Amino acid sequence: MRYNPKAKLDRSQVQVRRGGGRSGGGFGLPVGGGGGNGLKVGGGIGGLVILLLVFLLQSQLGGSPSAGPVGTGEETGSLDNCRTGADANQDRNCALVADVNSIQAFWAEALPDQTGTPYRRATTTIFTGQTNTGCGGATSDVGPFYCSVDEGVFLDTSFFEDMLQGQLGAQGGPFSEAYVLAHEYGHHLQNILGTMGQVRTQQGANSDAVRLELQADCYAGVWTKFATEAPDESGEPYILDLTEQDIAAALDAARAVGDDRIQKRSSGRVDPDRWTHGSAEQRMGWFTRGMETGSIEACDTFRAARL
Ligand SMILES: [Zn+2]
Repeated sequence: MRYNPKAKLDRSQVQVRRGGGRSGGGFGLPVGGGGGNGLKVGGGIGGLVILLLVFLLQSQLGGSPSAGPVGTGEETGSLDNCRTGADANQDRNCALVADVNSIQAFWAEALPDQTGTPYRRATTTIFTGQTNTGCGGATSDVGPFYCSVDEGVFLDTSFFEDMLQGQLGAQGGPFSEAYVLAHEYGHHLQNILGTMGQVRTQQGANSDAVRLELQADCYAGVWTKFATEAPDESGEPYILDLTEQDIAAALDAARAVGDDRIQKRSSGRVDPDRWTHGSAEQRMGWFTRGMETGSIEACDTFRAARL
C-alpha cells in the first residue's frame, strides 16, 4: 500500500485527544478496576445509542483483553506533521488521516450517487486509554467504535498491536488498519441511511446485529474497490496502489475478528447464539462481496436469505 505523496491531507477530519489515565488531564472517568468496562451507555440517550459501539465485544474475550495498562497517558502523537501522502507513508497517524480522507472522499460521491442521500462527514478521534463520548465513557478495551450520538469514530491505536495482532493474531499492516476504519465508517453510513434503526435482535447468528456488522464489512469492501481513486481536493488520489498482500491483510483482519474465531481462542467453544458480528467466513465473504461489486445495494445483509 502506497499513499500518494502529491495528495494533500485534510487533518481536520481526525483529532487526537490526549490525556486519560495517570498522566492527569483525564476526563474524570474511573480507571481500570476489574476490567471489562465496555462502553457505558447513558440512560438518557436511549434508542439513539446503538450497540455497534463496539468493534469487538469485550465479553467475548473474557478477562481484560488489553495487553497494556489502561490509561498510561502516553502521547498519542500530534497530527501537525501530516501534510501529504508522503507523511502518510512515513507515519502511522498520518496514514490514518489519509485513510479517513480517502474513505470520506469516496462516500461523499458514492453515497449520493448510489442512494440519492447526501453524505455527512464524521470525525475520527484518536485517543489513548480512555475518553468520553456522547455514548458514554470508553476505554481502549472496547476496540474502535462508532458513536451515533457524536457521529464520530473513536480509536485507540494500541488496539492494532495489543488486540488485533496481539490477542487475535492478525498479521496487521496498514491496510488492515484502513479496513478497520472503513468498517467503522460503514456504521456511519448506516446511521445516515437509517439502517441502524432496523436493528431489533442483538445476538445470534441471524440477528440484526450480525447483519449490521456484516453490512459494515461489505461497505468497507465497497470503498476498497475504489480506494485508489478517491481523490483529494485537487483530484490527486490519496492511495496510489493496493497489492494483493494488502487485500489479504484486510481479509486476515476480518477473519481475526470473526465471532467463531474469537470464541474459539477465548473459550475453545463456538456458540453461534452469542454472535454479534458474524463468523470469520461471513466477515471475509461480505467484505469480498462489497469489493467485487462496489455496490451499496449488494450489501443488503438484511434481505439476504443466507449470510
Ligand atoms: Zn462494527
